[in-house]
Amino acid sequence: MVRSLLLTPGPLTTTDTVKTAMMGDWCTWEEEYKKLTSGIRSRLVELAGGGDQYTAVLMQGSGTFSVEAAIGTFISKEDHVLIGVNGAYGRRIVEIAERLHIPYSTVTVDDTKALEVASFEEKLRADSSITHVMFVHSETTSGLLNPAQDICRIAKQFGKTTMVDAMSSFGGMDMSMGDWNMDVLVSSSNKCLQGVPGFGFVLANRALLKSRKGCAPSLSLDVYDQFETMENDGGKWRFTSPTHAVHAFSQALDELIEEGGIQVREARYRQNQETLISGMEALSFKTAVSKSIQSPFIVSFLYPDETFSFDDFYKVLKADGFVIYPGKLTDLQAFRIGIIGDIHVSDIHRLLESIKMYMTERGGLLV
Ligand SMILES: *Cc1c(COP(=O)(O)O)cnc(C)c1O
Repeated sequence: MVRSLLLTPGPLTTTDTVKTAMMGDWCTWEEEYKKLTSGIRSRLVELAGGGDQYTAVLMQGSGTFSVEAAIGTFISKEDHVLIGVNGAYGRRIVEIAERLHIPYSTVTVDDTKALEVASFEEKLRADSSITHVMFVHSETTSGLLNPAQDICRIAKQFGKTTMVDAMSSFGGMDMSMGDWNMDVLVSSSNKCLQGVPGFGFVLANRALLKSRKGCAPSLSLDVYDQFETMENDGGKWRFTSPTHAVHAFSQALDELIEEGGIQVREARYRQNQETLISGMEALSFKTAVSKSIQSPFIVSFLYPDETFSFDDFYKVLKADGFVIYPGKLTDLQAFRIGIIGDIHVSDIHRLLESIKMYMTERGGLLV
């Protein structure tokens, strides 16, 4: 079997040891398995820079299930959430609010621009009915970073509850929920923490979560109920949990510590990103977002010209062992290359060689 490197924002390339950790079958009510879950919960709180004030709740499903669970649990129909929108994941938050009949307003900017704190401040000043502020930290649509600290700070100045989709940044960038004024943070097993897909998690202010009993309109997507069971039954999940993904994730967390922690991982991602961008620029590609807001997780590159075929490019790279991602920007023709996962700068150099070969053969490269 030819193994491809996934240069995608998750599922991503995991280590062999993470994959090997799944070679077993586990029962969900046994003490060891529950301990594994409890251990993961407390390690996540630690990674979020939280103390006793915070707690972590694991939820079955992909990341969106946890986003929806968090929205349903923490925001009521009597509330009003101000949502930052500059990409598909911000629009997904809006869609969830609509489905749950939660009143909302938006602060919207172009998909290639970062959200502006001043626009949040303006809306918060103008409308005192707003109770919550929610946005995406790393917009995977474009690869840009929104100013999470600044937005949360202004939201807190107005006394609002802050909720952040940090799906594609948590674990790949040092952040402290306390210092960053985040009440709720959502992420998942298969992004920067480098586990396999299967569950997401909601990190939350413990007192706030404790006040949300009976609030969620859904049984399975109730963060409070899951919290209560995990707390009272020593790490038990309600309903069947993704046992293999949980074992893989515990191994992935061990490996994050072995690597040196989040700061070291972030430095590796940044080196991947800088190598990728400078190499691509040398091949005449341009990034879709400006460098000042470019995340170290995924990069969008514009098509080099009108005749560029993503399908063709994708197939050639795939044959060389690299899987890249189509673009998702509404107005621009772009493709994406992820740099998270078990990806190292030597992989980026090999990728750049492949791309150079492709561009040379295509005749589009004037070097
Ligand atoms: C990956 C991701 C999600 C969740 O996507 P799923 O496909 O449900 O796992 C949500 N928000 C952002 C910013 C993401 O990158």
